[in-house]
Amino acid sequence: MPVAQCDDRCKSPAMNSYSFQTVPVLHFGEGCLSMLADQVAALGGTRPLIVTDKGIIGAGLIAPVEQALSDAGLTAHIFDAVIADPPEVVVEQAIDLAESADVDIVIGLGGGSSLDTAKVVAALAVDNAQVLSDIYGVGQLARKGLPTILIPTTSGTGSEVTAISILTTGETTKAGIVSPHLFADAAILDPTLTLGLPAAVTAATGIDAMVHAIEAYTGRHAKNPVSDMLAIEALKLLTAHIETACSDGANMVAREAMLRGSMLAGQAFANSPVGAIHALAYPLGGIYHIPHGLSNALVMPHIMQFNLEAAASLYAELADALDVPKTGPNSAEARAQELIDYLEGLAVKVNAPRRLREVGIAEDAVDELAEAAMLQTRLLINNPKELDLADAKRIYADAW
Ligand SMILES: [Zn+2]
Repeated sequence: MPVAQCDDRCKSPAMNSYSFQTVPVLHFGEGCLSMLADQVAALGGTRPLIVTDKGIIGAGLIAPVEQALSDAGLTAHIFDAVIADPPEVVVEQAIDLAESADVDIVIGLGGGSSLDTAKVVAALAVDNAQVLSDIYGVGQLARKGLPTILIPTTSGTGSEVTAISILTTGETTKAGIVSPHLFADAAILDPTLTLGLPAAVTAATGIDAMVHAIEAYTGRHAKNPVSDMLAIEALKLLTAHIETACSDGANMVAREAMLRGSMLAGQAFANSPVGAIHALAYPLGGIYHIPHGLSNALVMPHIMQFNLEAAASLYAELADALDVPKTGPNSAEARAQELIDYLEGLAVKVNAPRRLREVGIAEDAVDELAEAAMLQTRLLINNPKELDLADAKRIYADAW
């Protein structure tokens, strides 16, 4: 019997070799914002920059952060000009402030846009030979920048535990920076900060987190036992609590579950990257400024339907893990369909818009959207089923 060649062995699922990375320190729980000053000190920070947006200031969420710092004798510089789908010019303004104020630690506070911006600011606001245009893509960032602490105020992007930043380049294209150097040094997850999120944002960001878990679980290249475990636990928490989090925003149990679920899903997809749902969601954000979570929620069922045949056994496993009621015949395809229907039912229950036309997109936008989605090759390669331009057009048309 010939000895197996390395190539054969490496391709064998039984070998199951994989890598897994996440942030080194997580503080999680009601009131854990009180850990901030100690965490800044532990990282050697004395001159913090808070990167955030005006919505956070308006919602009164920056006051407790500033208070936590001032109690420890620290005064923070504040950059509050982050906007959704952050364009490069905004990131460059924040880098300029970080450099002119000579800050030595960056604190991201907010949703995914603020956290993604904070990561890039920390990466480039040091004596660094690289500029923004050098670092797009996977593994282009040469080295780690300033220490970074990320504090999410939504339960969706998982950005606090990912090594990814998504920016808008040019007018409409969203591009990713992926590098292990973007991992924060610490994340502080205090569900108190999410209590005031409106129901519509809770729904959309919660569905985004579910999509992270589903796409990590069905990823074609980097799916592994750790990301699987995280994805399943995330999906259980998110599906069980999203309705309560939307209908009763002050419910701390639901808010805590959603924040934990989005973090776990973030850890999963940081290691087993997302696929076609995100690839087709990005143009909706880049071109039409539909919020990221809502973009995902709109295309999710249509891409899952497209993937059904290729991902049937994995979708069936998720249906079983979630105890989705079994009503159809005993096949993986039927079980997968039950998962898709169950998730769609949840999206309807939390009043997420279900049609592209409901969010102001014209029917003839399909071609432009599909062409833009095909540029997301970094994501499309992870999809369980090959997807071409004609498929993308059909999926957008179905979603319209
Ligand atoms: Zn997402």
